Amino acid sequence: MYLQNKGYSFEEKDVNKDMDARNDMINRGIQGVPAFIIGDEVVVGLDTAKIENLMRHKIVNCPSCNAKLRLPRGKGTIKVTCPKCKYGFNLET
Ligand SMILES: [Zn+2]
Repeated sequence: MYLQNKGYSFEEKDVNKDMDARNDMINRGIQGVPAFIIGDEVVVGLDTAKIENLMRHKIVNCPSCNAKLRLPRGKGTIKVTCPKCKYGFNLET
């Protein structure tokens, strides 16, 4: 299984049996399975390139203007400058 082979931790939900998961899927407007929810992003179908890209990044809200910033994971502490408000901060990735 792709996600396991990659060593990603994930939670699998069966929308045929799990009504909460089914409602969540409907609320997010997901129309097909398998669907992958990574942070705030949704990938429908096993689009490995897209999943890889999302798994290598994380979404962080700018502490100043709350803009969503997509930042790499696992790079230690990096200095981030918000492209929107130019606020600079250090972030543990
Ligand atoms: Zn900002």
